Amino acid sequence: MTRRPRQVGVNVIVHYRVARETGATIAVERTGEGSWLEQEAGWMSYCVNHSQVCWHPTRALAIYHAAAPSGWCGDCARIADGTSPRITTGKVD
Ligand SMILES: [Zn+2]
Repeated sequence: MTRRPRQVGVNVIVHYRVARETGATIAVERTGEGSWLEQEAGWMSYCVNHSQVCWHPTRALAIYHAAAPSGWCGDCARIADGTSPRITTGKVD
């Protein structure tokens, strides 16, 4: 599901989705100027449930990785491999 861009601090959330593989809610954000998180990458996938971040050079990569958080979020990886229970409360508000 896509929503309109929303400013969060100096970052802008441009995309939200509930990852099918774990049920976690993932935000795709454009890092803002002056952000303490700012890196050369410029884009990030953010696991809202586990507060994990994965940096990307392009928006397309950030959206691509938002669909598969088990590749970069350790807690999501434990859900994907069956160690932890799936998240059932994930939603796009
Ligand atoms: Zn996660």
